[in-house]
Amino acid sequence: MTIPFLDLKQINQQYRSELVEACTRVIDSGWYIGGNELEKFEQNFAAFCGVKYAIGVANGLDALILVLRAWKELGKLKDGDEVIVPANTYIASILAITANNLTPVLVEPDAGSFNIDPESIEKVITDKTRAILAVHLYGQLADMVSVMSIADRHNLLVLEDSAQAHGASKNGVRAGNWGHASGFSFYPGKNLGALGDAGAVTTNDAALADMLKALRNYGSHEKYKNLVPGVNSRLDEIQAAMLDVKLKYLEAEISHRRQIASMYMEGIKNPLITLPLQQGVNAAEYEQHVWHLFVIRCEKRDELQKYLLDAGVQTLIHYPVPPHKQQAYKEMNHLSYPLTEEIHQQVLSLPMGPTLDIESVQQVINLCNAFKS
Ligand SMILES: *Cc1c(COP(=O)(O)O)cnc(C)c1O
Repeated sequence: MTIPFLDLKQINQQYRSELVEACTRVIDSGWYIGGNELEKFEQNFAAFCGVKYAIGVANGLDALILVLRAWKELGKLKDGDEVIVPANTYIASILAITANNLTPVLVEPDAGSFNIDPESIEKVITDKTRAILAVHLYGQLADMVSVMSIADRHNLLVLEDSAQAHGASKNGVRAGNWGHASGFSFYPGKNLGALGDAGAVTTNDAALADMLKALRNYGSHEKYKNLVPGVNSRLDEIQAAMLDVKLKYLEAEISHRRQIASMYMEGIKNPLITLPLQQGVNAAEYEQHVWHLFVIRCEKRDELQKYLLDAGVQTLIHYPVPPHKQQAYKEMNHLSYPLTEEIHQQVLSLPMGPTLDIESVQQVINLCNAFKS
């Protein structure tokens, strides 16, 4: 018996006939870039997030990079400006900042949620600070009420990294509709996944949306007229069509993830294992969290992972090495973020996904409860 971490094949098989139909439609249309499929998906995804504009791009990293690029083109940011970002994130969040010659200023997360700690933000604001990049890690919104109020007080731009949080909400407002802009990834393993690479920006700012539409297409709104030096970062018609099929089922998939999370939360009772949402299980939190990942903590993490693997359960670590300790960021290697570093040593992501069956979840729970050090 093996329980996979995430079964992408099974996920897409559920919608096989609709996906094949949509793919066939695009093949037969003779139109492969920048057409009706993209427009339809952009409208539907904007409606899903509750925002005015969604702009499809090639991947999630580009979504973040291009928002910061657009703000530079619009005169809102310049080289060397500081962007506050959580130390505890996937490296893409930081890469988007350094790719734009902006300076990342890392801050520790909140110990309960692992998301950016608003109190730490205030402490690192300088006269060069221009933006906050808030990450909704594992499918839970960062404390956006506090983040937005700090940003308002200090006149800062807010970019959300929503790559793990499609549909997550707080006070009825979804990821992608809190900051001045948000980047989404549709990498196949994300909660809304394409059958290849894809991403999008959401925003309510018309000027920003307009600039992004030019930037993703060589800086051109109009063929052969280039207003800014852009890039090629487009979401093609086939991926847009695949995403539009899968978007219809996203709410149902999120419900299934919530059911699994609530089984783990109620079932796992081992003092060696710390569950997420340390403040305790409450209904409101389940309504907001989309459980891209179910991340537990364990001091004997490597032993627990091996024990589960020997029993046929595949787990992953998100993430083993924090960005500031990566070789790619030698200039940051000397920095110390003890909580972030501890999190990276202790986290383990249990199997989670829209096709994971209840019996498998129960087996994982039983194994976790039988783990001894
Ligand atoms: C996946 C991910 C990204 C990058 O998305 P890609 O589509 O792989 O470029 C950015 N930030 C976070 C937090 C992610 O999980």
